[in-house]
Amino acid sequence: MFTVNARATTGPTEPFRALRIERRDTGPTDVLIDIAYSGICHTDVSRARGEFGTTMYPIVPGHEIAGIVSAVGSEVTRFAVGDRVGVGCLVDSCRECELCRAGLEPYCLRGHVRTYNSIGRDGENTLGGYSEKIVVDESYVVGIPDAIPLQNAAPLLCAGITLYSPLRHWHAGPGKKVAILGFGGLGHVGVAISAALGAHTTVFELTMDKQADALKRGAEHYRLSTDPAVFTEFAGAFDLILSTVPAQIDYDAFLSLLALDGTMVMLGVPKQPITLDVFSLLHNRRSLAGTLVGGIAETQEMLDFCAERGISAEVEIIGADEIDNAYDRVASGDVRYRFVIDIRTMTKG
Ligand code: ZN
Ligand code: ZN
Repeated sequence: MFTVNARATTGPTEPFRALRIERRDTGPTDVLIDIAYSGICHTDVSRARGEFGTTMYPIVPGHEIAGIVSAVGSEVTRFAVGDRVGVGCLVDSCRECELCRAGLEPYCLRGHVRTYNSIGRDGENTLGGYSEKIVVDESYVVGIPDAIPLQNAAPLLCAGITLYSPLRHWHAGPGKKVAILGFGGLGHVGVAISAALGAHTTVFELTMDKQADALKRGAEHYRLSTDPAVFTEFAGAFDLILSTVPAQIDYDAFLSLLALDGTMVMLGVPKQPITLDVFSLLHNRRSLAGTLVGGIAETQEMLDFCAERGISAEVEIIGADEIDNAYDRVASGDVRYRFVIDIRTMTKG
């Protein structure tokens, strides 16, 4: 065991404070990572503030981790000291069930171990990326291509794979029409990936001020979801709708935009259960679906795809003492488009 600097909160309304946390020694199949940047995901805010009801305090959030390998165990084969690497939403799973073996680790039949706020193999609460170092089994680490700066790569580890996985699963590509609800941390990456896959991509947002960015990242249309006319304009138009909105929306209205056999996939999680008229599904044989992030191999595929196509996240870099303010701004949607903590600033405090 050794200790490193971290930032933690001890309750739903408590501010983040400096904390020394323990990391395990680097085992035979482990990689020790010096974290350079850690993205702030909306899920971090929800978990830290206890909104899912399952938060174990003190919590060290962070599942968008980018850094450099500083040590490897004796049996590690995929990584070497100095490699640029990332860790996303999970750090372990059973590794034996049919879903783990198929590269679907998030759906592990025995449950996966989340990067933070989860019980690891050692029986301890996992602590995430708002810290100087992390030790992770190499099977749950991915390589970050040289073409993507670490700070812009960090958000891809959650936001990127959260969008890439459903876009691939539901066959976004040439001839397909995709709508993305919300142009924020998830949406701004999703639009770029969807367009790069060749899909005709439309953004629905609450304000017009992100239109230029959306078009620059490959959207063909940008519409206000508050404008009733768009539900006529795009009635029955889309093959796939991805909702990144972590709040209640008019599900019947958006389902009416799906073509025959179209699917609406929920990525953002509203705080309350949702309601909808089942007739919205019967018409056009529509589906309402959900998805977790993709598996480790698919995460690597996503990073390689983004590097090839020049896609990454637009970030605002903050210091370790600015997390509380950043959380307030994430909660109100006031960020272009992802906060990333510069972990070098974590030494003080
Ligand atoms: Zn996330
Ligand atoms: Zn498994």
